[in-house]
Amino acid sequence: MRGAVRERVVLAPYMHLRIGGPADWFLEPYAEEDVALAVRACRERDVPLRVLGGGSNVVIADEGVRGALLHLPSLNRIQRDGNRITAGAGVTLPSLLRAAKEAGLAGLEKLTGIPAMVGGAVAMNAGTRDGETFEHLVSLTLVDRDGNVVVHGRDRFRACYRDGGLDDAIVVQATFELTPDDRQAIAARFSASLKQRNASQPVSMRSVGCVFRNPAGDAAGRLIEAAGCKNLRIGGIEVSPVHANYFVNDGCGSAAEFVALMGEVRARVRKTFGVELAPEVKFWGF
Ligand SMILES: Cc1cc2nc3c(=O)[nH]c(=O)nc-3n(C[C@H](O)[C@H](O)[C@H](O)COP(=O)(O)OP(=O)(O)OC[C@H]3O[C@@H](n4cnc5c(N)ncnc54)[C@H](O)[C@@H]3O)c2cc1C
Repeated sequence: MRGAVRERVVLAPYMHLRIGGPADWFLEPYAEEDVALAVRACRERDVPLRVLGGGSNVVIADEGVRGALLHLPSLNRIQRDGNRITAGAGVTLPSLLRAAKEAGLAGLEKLTGIPAMVGGAVAMNAGTRDGETFEHLVSLTLVDRDGNVVVHGRDRFRACYRDGGLDDAIVVQATFELTPDDRQAIAARFSASLKQRNASQPVSMRSVGCVFRNPAGDAAGRLIEAAGCKNLRIGGIEVSPVHANYFVNDGCGSAAEFVALMGEVRARVRKTFGVELAPEVKFWGF
């Protein structure tokens, strides 16, 4: 495999929350065929394999994760073909949005402010109340569980709320169909979305975004706040005073404290409202 293969790499610096112990193996393949080789190598050796994107929706255990982690920053090409833009899985969402804006192609503004790589945004079907990643997706290049590179149209996938339905395949490239529009109009929509996000979320803090899924017909943040959990703290992790469904790390927090705070918040919401909150964030190594 071309690219970097490292042993016992501490993951905290790769995580938005800045928490996480080491992965046994940390693989950074150079190109999509190297991703396929890595998948096959891990399969042959019975090594569990996960893909890490921008690390903004995952909490890694303090003890780390066993097996191998794929990280794909080298898949960072963005190509334009008419109204279509193709981006590698390792392109950051802000870079993709900037490229679309500069090309005068509209649609992706609804994803403004979501910290992700393209692969993670597709895998999670990241979105806002204005729309989701899959809306503009045309096709995906994937490496499947057997290590084959395959291309599928969007209709192949059953994307739903915060789930692209990829069935453990690895995204290496995604193509989006966008709509030509005036650059200034696109830029204005970007700014409006960013302004709104900056006012309502602790964007400059270390977090994993929304910790719990919204229960049907309600908002997890509202329930957490109404159950008196705002500013609740365990060690270095606190329920954000800005948005109660965000837990923020003051720089000294641990994964154990994050999980303990989740437990306390769930218990209080259950006791006050009889509602069982379900996690939106993923946990690795627990
Ligand atoms: C401040 C903040 C605000 C947020 N706001 C939003 C929001 O408005 N809307 C929203 O939907 N989310 C939001 N999130 C959550 C997060 O940004 C999204 O879930 C995002 O899609 C995660 O992308 P990532 O690249 O960071 O993936 P990671 O967190 O690294 O991984 C998430 C999942 O995607 C999988 N994955 C990553 N890359 C690939 C790949 N190439 N192929 C296959 N699977 C892959 C991982 O294995 C994992 O299961 C927010 C998070 C933060 C910290």
